[in-house]
Amino acid sequence: MDYGKKYIQKLSMLTAIVLSLDTILVLAIWLLLSNFLNDNILLVSFWVLLSAIVIGVSVRVLVLASYKPINTLSDAIIYAGHSTRGGVAPDTESLKIGHEMVSALALQVYDLASMAGQSKIIATSEQGITDQSMASVAIPAVNVTQIEQPSTNLDHVFLPIIGIDSNQIVTYINKTACEYFGCSYDKVINKPLYDSVKMLFDTDETFELWLNKTKDTTVNSSRSWERVRISDANGNPIKQFDLAASFSKQTGAGTETMLVVFDRSEEYTRDDRQISFVALAVHELRTPLTIMRGYIEVFEDEVGPTLTPELTSFMHKMHASAQQLTSFVGNILNVARIEENQLSLRLEKRDWADILKNAINDLALRAGVHGKHIELQINGEIPPVAVDQLSIHEVLNNLVDNAIKYSGNSDKIVVTTSVNKDGLIETSVQDFGIGIPSAVMPDLFQKFYRSHKSRVQIGGTGLGLYLCKSIVTAHDGNIWVRSKEGEGSIFTFTIQAFDKIKHEQTDNQDGIMRGAHGWIKNHSLNRQ
Ligand code: ADP
Repeated sequence: MDYGKKYIQKLSMLTAIVLSLDTILVLAIWLLLSNFLNDNILLVSFWVLLSAIVIGVSVRVLVLASYKPINTLSDAIIYAGHSTRGGVAPDTESLKIGHEMVSALALQVYDLASMAGQSKIIATSEQGITDQSMASVAIPAVNVTQIEQPSTNLDHVFLPIIGIDSNQIVTYINKTACEYFGCSYDKVINKPLYDSVKMLFDTDETFELWLNKTKDTTVNSSRSWERVRISDANGNPIKQFDLAASFSKQTGAGTETMLVVFDRSEEYTRDDRQISFVALAVHELRTPLTIMRGYIEVFEDEVGPTLTPELTSFMHKMHASAQQLTSFVGNILNVARIEENQLSLRLEKRDWADILKNAINDLALRAGVHGKHIELQINGEIPPVAVDQLSIHEVLNNLVDNAIKYSGNSDKIVVTTSVNKDGLIETSVQDFGIGIPSAVMPDLFQKFYRSHKSRVQIGGTGLGLYLCKSIVTAHDGNIWVRSKEGEGSIFTFTIQAFDKIKHEQTDNQDGIMRGAHGWIKNHSLNRQ
């Protein structure tokens, strides 16, 4: 603020000086001309002309003086962003007016440039964001023989920042990053990134895969990831962070990709602890719940026909609630298993129409209790599929459950299945309810994600869709959503026909084993 005041004071002073000089000059011109010219018209014409020149020059001086700091600041912003002009930071000291203000603001720009990705990360989809404004900071190229850490503005930024070249060799690492990753500068600089920083991702598209794909298709791109891990030798996470990457193609040497790390170790470790505690507690619910469900079913069969309509409806509600509790318990336990890389699936040859009919049969009661009915459409001949029956049941369960929860006043849910043009079996669960705003769609499949509205109005854990994605992915399938607010949503997933993958089954194996992965190593060598 003081810098701003000082700038205005200096500018006001300069304006006052220039205006005073103008007045003196204009008067002097008049006196001078009136001594030489007798013709009044000529005198006034010359005076107006010369005065206009004097005033024009003064206005230019004033405009330049006030514009230069803005121009320098704009250069600093471009320098801190995707600079295409080269890598020299503007010289703020050379400014005659406002150099203190511009220096202070430029420093903040450099800091903010590396923090700007933070807010974007929260809204990032698994597909990634393509927003070019994601912060990246242009780093001066690093001399190959230089091992002593050069000092740059970014050393004062509290976020860890790493730059890599087109061969994924580290060209820049700031002091914060060295401290964060616990590696000394000379052990990292000019070495392959993956030798020093072994990142684990909870999505299929790791940084390395994204980068390789990006290099082939674009010149500039940004992407961010939530929950990246660095683990110790036993696989326990020692650091957990969000990561923002900004790529700008380089033909020669020099920094091509900047990585900015946002530490979230505390929050994510808390999440992990919460889930293991909840999983432990929930595990104990399983046995009494199974017994309860068993007795409810026996009661329904034995005394159901003799009950009054009112008591029958109570019985249905009880049964539906027990089912809902069972699926909640299943979700929590499965997510905990995924976290620990312990959810394994056995894909077996099954009749998909049968599975769907059974699942819908189970869910019909729950839907009925909420005043909804489920319509099943099986389009054409469906070949036998390769599924883990229990897990795929959970996918259907979660999708139909959501359709029930989020279908508002509409009472219809449609489940459709058919073989798509790629020979995959495609199944959709459609509701005509509240729909999903497009802004939140990319986040739906993330763990614990719940849209703002749902959080307030409808109960849930934010784990259902995450689990669906993990299970469908383990089936070599895909899951996606189409939705319009106020009109409803269609969640669709694909699974494989058994014949397509039966070659994966070995003689001594029952079914095809798959893991619903938790953490994927970043380096292709590690993945093998
Ligand atoms: P939960 O339903 O327990 O919140 P999910 O992972 O199943 O968790 O869903 C995540 C979020 O996706 C929900 O909170 C909700 O905002 C949104 N969502 C899921 N299914 C639907 C649907 N059929 N219609 C509208 N919103 C949905």
